[in-house]
Amino acid sequence: MRALIVGRFQPFHNGHMEVIKKILEEHSSVIIGIGSAQYSHTLRDPFTAGERHLMISMSLEEKGIVNFYLVPIEDVNSNPLWVAHVEALTPRFDSVYTNNPLVRRLFLEKKYDVRSVELMNRTDWSGTSIRKKMLDGKRWEDDVPEQVVRVIREIDGVQRLRDLAMQD
Ligand code: NAP
Repeated sequence: MRALIVGRFQPFHNGHMEVIKKILEEHSSVIIGIGSAQYSHTLRDPFTAGERHLMISMSLEEKGIVNFYLVPIEDVNSNPLWVAHVEALTPRFDSVYTNNPLVRRLFLEKKYDVRSVELMNRTDWSGTSIRKKMLDGKRWEDDVPEQVVRVIREIDGVQRLRDLAMQD
């Protein structure tokens, strides 16, 4: 059985890692859709699809997890067509994990088994709060896997966010 989870992963953090481990307790493999793949270099979506791909693959491999498929998924300007768009880009899947009401609705209408899985420790393990900590010069490194820290340092990601904030 294969599951799908779609998120923006801006950036991939410890909460996402726990969710993926939980999904793999119930499924033999997981497809991780990197949502809004066309966006980068904004305060909400600072990292490119390629950078997010690297963050996720390096973090999972470091934990010995190999049964995953990473698929960048660009948004489309029609919600009713989005599920078909996802299906066209991914291997077949049996279940969809999401807490996003729109994503839930769209997959339910296509008769998928849609499940929810709560992210833990939302105070610290949240993309929004991690990006804010980066901007405020606070410690964010404990909220993401070590490999994510490595990728963000390599691309000078914190300075990128600060430059974007100045532009705003
Ligand atoms: P998202 O926009 O990445 O996340 C929305 C919020 O939900 C974020 O604060 C996120 O936190 C949080 N979240 C994510 N997973 C969660 C969980 N398991 N429990 C609690 N909160 C959670 O939305 P998404 O649902 O993760 O990703 C959906 C993707 O599908 C987006 O890229 C969206 O653009 C795309 N989509 C596209 C279309 C279209 O093109 N027409 C239609 C539907 C959806 P974190 O930031 O910490 O992850």
